[in-house]
Amino acid sequence: MMGLLKGMGVTLKTMTKKKVTRMYPREPMKMPDRFRGVQHFDPELCIVCNQCVRVCPTDCITLTGRKHPDPGKRGKVIETYDINFEICILCDLCTEVCPTEAVVMTGNFELATYSRDDLFKNMEWLHDNNKNIRSVNNVNAKGATK
Ligand code: SF4
Ligand code: SF4
Repeated sequence: MMGLLKGMGVTLKTMTKKKVTRMYPREPMKMPDRFRGVQHFDPELCIVCNQCVRVCPTDCITLTGRKHPDPGKRGKVIETYDINFEICILCDLCTEVCPTEAVVMTGNFELATYSRDDLFKNMEWLHDNNKNIRSVNNVNAKGATK
C-alpha cells in the first residue's frame, strides 16, 4: 500500500511540473540562432561571383548568370540558382564565403518528402524560404520574417 501511494505521489508531482516535451509537429521547433538550416537566397543581392559554387564540398549548387541588362551597369545578374538537398550537408561554407549575403542560413530543417526530385530546390523556392533567417543576416534579407 505504501508503495502504491509513493508511486501516485511521484505521478502527481510529475503531472504538475513544466513539460520538457512538445507536441511536434503541431507546435513548431524554434532552433538556436547558429543552427545550420536550409538556405534562403536573395537574387537581388547575388553578384554571380561563383564563390559559393567553388567552395561547396558536395557540388550541390548550380547557378547561371547573364550580363547586367542595364548597359550602364557592370557585372552580371543571376538567372538560375539551384541547390540539390539530396547531397547538401548544410555545412554553412556557401554562406560563409558569400560576399553579399545573398545566400544565408535559416533555422528551417523540414525537407522530408516521398520523392528525391522534391529535394532539388530552385531560386524561387530558396527565395521564399525567408523565415527564421539567422539574426546576424536578417538585416540584409529583404522581406524576410524572423
Ligand atoms: S551548405 Fe555546404 S554542402 Fe550545402 S550548398 Fe552550402 S557549401 Fe554546399
Ligand atoms: S550567392 Fe553569393 S557567393 Fe554565390 S554567386 Fe551569389 S554572390 Fe557569389
